[in-house]
Amino acid sequence: ETFQAFGLAETLTRALSRLSIETPTPIQARALPAALEGRDILGVAQTGTGKTAAFSLPVLNAILSHPSRPAPKTTKALILAPTRELAVQIGESIANYAEGTRLTHAVVFGGVSIRPQIATLGRGVDILIATPGRLIDLMNQRAIGFEATRFLVLDEADRMLDMGFVRDVMKIVDRLPDERQSMLFSATMPKAIEDLSKKILTEPVKVSV
Ligand code: AMP
Repeated sequence: ETFQAFGLAETLTRALSRLSIETPTPIQARALPAALEGRDILGVAQTGTGKTAAFSLPVLNAILSHPSRPAPKTTKALILAPTRELAVQIGESIANYAEGTRLTHAVVFGGVSIRPQIATLGRGVDILIATPGRLIDLMNQRAIGFEATRFLVLDEADRMLDMGFVRDVMKIVDRLPDERQSMLFSATMPKAIEDLSKKILTEPVKVSV
C-alpha cells in the first residue's frame, strides 16, 4: 500500500517521498481513509507508531483541498498536546509534511514568555499546536479566535488527563465551533478517556494498534 492510494494532495505525497516515508504504518493505513473522509477518529496508539502523520496528513489535506479555503492565517486546526516536548515534536512533523505548501503553524506552551506567542497569534497561523494551560492563558488574553477552526486533535489524551488538564481541555473545546472534525489519540483507554471521547467526538471510527 502507498500514500498515493489514499488520494492525498500531491504536495503532501511529494513531502512524504522526500522524507522517505513510503509505506503507511498500521495506524496510518487504518486511520487515514476514515479521517480523509472527514470522520472523527478515536485512536489507541503509542508513540512511535506513526500517529502524528495519521492525524496531521488528513488535516493538511483538508485545508489544502478545501474549495473555498478560509482566509489564510486563521486558526483552521488546533492540536492539543500534554507537554512542551510533544508539542514541539508535532510542530516539527507538521513543518516537514507541510513543506512546499503555504500553510503556517505555531507551537505555544507554558513556562516561557507569553508575549512573543501573542505576537505570533496576532499575525495569524493556519495550524496551532498548544499545551492546554498556555492556550487557556492566551484565550483569556483574547489572543486567539476559533471562528475558522474546523479540526481538533487531542494527542496523548491519557497523559493530558493524568496531568490534570481535562477541565482546561473541556473549556477549550467548548469554545470551538461544533461543526468540526475531531481526532483523539491515547496510548491507553481508561473509562475517563472513553467519557472524554464521548463528549468530544461524533460517531468516531475506532482504530487501535
Ligand atoms: P510518531 O509515532 O508519530 O511519533 O512517529 C514516529 C516516527 O516514525 C517519526 O520519526 C516519523 O517521522 C516516522 N514515521 C511516521 N510514519 C512513517 C512511515 N509510514 N514510514 C516510516 N517512518 C514513519
